[in-house]
Amino acid sequence: MSMTTREECQRRDAADPLARVRDYFLLPEGIIYLLGNSLGPLSIPSAQRVKHALDVEWGEQLLRSWPDGWWDLPVALGRRLARLIGARPEEVLVTDSTSVDIFKLVVAAARLRPNRRVIVTYENNFPTDLYILDEAAALTGLEVRRAKDRGALIEALDESVALIELTHVDYRTAEMAPMVEITKAAHDAGALVIWDLAHSIGAVPVDLSAADADFAVGCTYKYLNGGPGAPAFVFAAARLHDELHQPLTGWHGHARPFGFEPTYEPASGIRRFSTGSPPILSYAALDGALDVFEAVDLGALFEKSRTLSQLLIDRLEPLFSSGRLELGSPRDVMVRGSHIALRHANAGAIVAQLEAQGVLTDFRDPDYIRLGLAPLFVRYADVFDAADAITKIVGAA
Ligand SMILES: *Cc1c(COP(=O)(O)O)cnc(C)c1O
Repeated sequence: MSMTTREECQRRDAADPLARVRDYFLLPEGIIYLLGNSLGPLSIPSAQRVKHALDVEWGEQLLRSWPDGWWDLPVALGRRLARLIGARPEEVLVTDSTSVDIFKLVVAAARLRPNRRVIVTYENNFPTDLYILDEAAALTGLEVRRAKDRGALIEALDESVALIELTHVDYRTAEMAPMVEITKAAHDAGALVIWDLAHSIGAVPVDLSAADADFAVGCTYKYLNGGPGAPAFVFAAARLHDELHQPLTGWHGHARPFGFEPTYEPASGIRRFSTGSPPILSYAALDGALDVFEAVDLGALFEKSRTLSQLLIDRLEPLFSSGRLELGSPRDVMVRGSHIALRHANAGAIVAQLEAQGVLTDFRDPDYIRLGLAPLFVRYADVFDAADAITKIVGAA
């Protein structure tokens, strides 16, 4: 079905098996929300689940809710997330923030390679990853090497490298790293890998088991719509669980938390990545948000993500070919995440003009306009309209 007119896009929306999923979301009228890659919108199941947590679990059951469900939420939500990233249910835990989880994983991973002193990452990795890596390295006597590109990364792999930490889908460009190849190259060199899936989960296919991945982290407030500050997730391959010692040894990660013993002993399995009491209302919001995914065929979801981003590129092609706008994302749809980056010297002003017209995008230094095409609720007609607005603004500049 071609989509060269707005009517064709609307017909495509009408025929879209995912179209009714949009009805789960409480999106304000009159805007085109292309920021689902930064903060996913509120969904009805999420709002209902939070209300239940407030009225019934907290309001009525009070402390009884801890043994009756709250205590297990970090593990239960991990089980629900697992299928979105090709993990086994017992390999994922929902806890803390992505930043904190990176710290836990870096230290735990480095302890598995005590004779190796180097962490390798990309110089253009997401800032929080870089900041946490530097401090975790300083505290553990490791050294961070920031590679310029994939060639330099592979080049850097020698017997001194303990681990690699990389973001799977680049937050600026949406370029997707080859998870299978990089993981294999790292393993061949005796190193471990931590994948940051912040811009991947719920948006692109991820198969951690097939990649033989060691560790991963990611947030749940982007494409998973878990709500502002929703807790992050940690993945660790089951084959490593017994050897892992993460540094934030709180009582929630203890083998017998209600033994109130004076010394720490890690819980078995992924639970050992817990630290302190989890923010239950945020867990409830995420729990509800995940209901939306239960209704969705993941293959169709990822296919829609690719079709949306291709539609946007096709619509903007005249601006690219005339040099008035630059595509900041890969052309190859198979190595592209679910947002599109555009580059323009006046990117900040264009984002502001789009916002004034109800098209919400964001600006990233130095000249990027990001358009998040969350396939659960963005329509083909929305992409058509957004491209139209961009064409008018950039064409008039
Ligand atoms: C959004 C994002 C984070 C966020 O980290 P928090 O600690 O959850 O705020 C981390 N890494 C990447 C790559 C991100 O895009």
